[in-house]
Amino acid sequence: MEKQKDNLMEKIISLCKRRGFVFPGSEIYGGLANSWDYGPLGVELKNNIKQLWWKRFVHMRDDMVGIDAALIMNPKVWEASGHVSTFSDPLVECKKCHHRFRADKIDAKECPDCGGELTAAKHFNLMLKTFLGPVEDKDSIVYFRPETAQAMFVDFKNVLETSRKKLPFGIAQIGKAFRNEITPGNFIFRTREFEQMEIEYFIYEKDWQESFDYWRKEMLSWMFNGLGLKRERIRETEVLDDELAHYSKRTIDFDYKFPFGEEELYGLAYRTDFDLKNHYKEEPYLDTETNEKSYPHVIEPTFGVDRSVLAVLCDAYTEEEERIVLKLKPALAPYKVAVFPLLKNKPELVAKAREIYNELKKDFVVAWDDRGNIGKRYYSQDEIGTLACITVDFETLEDNTVTIRDRDTMKQERVNISDLKRYISVLLSK
Ligand code: ATP
Repeated sequence: MEKQKDNLMEKIISLCKRRGFVFPGSEIYGGLANSWDYGPLGVELKNNIKQLWWKRFVHMRDDMVGIDAALIMNPKVWEASGHVSTFSDPLVECKKCHHRFRADKIDAKECPDCGGELTAAKHFNLMLKTFLGPVEDKDSIVYFRPETAQAMFVDFKNVLETSRKKLPFGIAQIGKAFRNEITPGNFIFRTREFEQMEIEYFIYEKDWQESFDYWRKEMLSWMFNGLGLKRERIRETEVLDDELAHYSKRTIDFDYKFPFGEEELYGLAYRTDFDLKNHYKEEPYLDTETNEKSYPHVIEPTFGVDRSVLAVLCDAYTEEEERIVLKLKPALAPYKVAVFPLLKNKPELVAKAREIYNELKKDFVVAWDDRGNIGKRYYSQDEIGTLACITVDFETLEDNTVTIRDRDTMKQERVNISDLKRYISVLLSK
């Protein structure tokens, strides 16, 4: 069983590398441990996830606006937020091999690598430091943000003044975050540089339970309807009081059944008024309707982008008798369709196929393939989740129809060239 699971992860990693979804970072220099680069197909998949999220949570709502803040913020932000003093994981070190581990992630009392004795746990701050400017002293130390969230608090006033929003409303952001993780691993699941999609939703304190519940449902709907993840692979875990982050009064983790175990995909936290209170000490929010001053409370739905990509890949990866298919939701597929000339050495077929390809490219992301035989080309497109393959043959030259073959049903039908865009739009609406 264990072997099978490892095997599945290996197969997914290998497919990612072979087909250009994700490569090991800095590979020609021997790599950099646990860093990964998204290749041509990976960036399409990742962008599709981010665009879908932005559309759903920002563009389609009246109560949400977005920002895109700097990665490096004034270090005072991280003092006020509590990250300098408390954003740490318990670290233990093996006295024999000196490997380091997160104390809360290992079951045994001895080193998992060599069986040696472990030191007592000490706190290790996860923020990644660097120096800003030409002088490397303690006054020029800055941190790469460990979460995107703080920018939404720090920019709260500016957003409020420029967007004319009133409570309840939210600020959303997608961007990179950095954590000096003690034990990164499991491919793109835990890395030191990753991307988050976060919402800080500002509410009156009295509404927190209702809002928490609302966002819980929204997050589940995103997982099932947005990303198309299988329901039975998601589990909600209530984070116990003694494990809550320093700012949180209630947190739910949404765990996904990855091949390496059930692990956190997303989180939902009630951050109280902790952040705004710390950042705006003298200037609470003025409610223009009631004329009362207070600090808004915050519900925070947080989504890891890379963990979304990984969950989507694990969920979509399907082995059938004669093929491997990525059964991605249509909106997520890197290529929507592929266009083939039946034969590469027949200029009239190639020209007609090119014409169709160039026209479809104006509206969709389209692949071109003229290598090998049609069967191989189907196999190759199935493996990367392309929704349908369009073949131009001799009949096309006579009656302007093409063969279109569906990824999931493998059924083929003849469609008129003039109907292709509509046909693809229908596929995409599924
Ligand atoms: P974990 O317990 O796995 O370390 P966390 O509880 O510290 O995660 P949060 O602080 O809630 O994570 O971060 C919000 C989201 O950002 C997570 O749900 C996850 O999707 C993503 N995330 C956090 N750390 C990493 C990482 N090192 N690599 C990739 N994604 C991450």
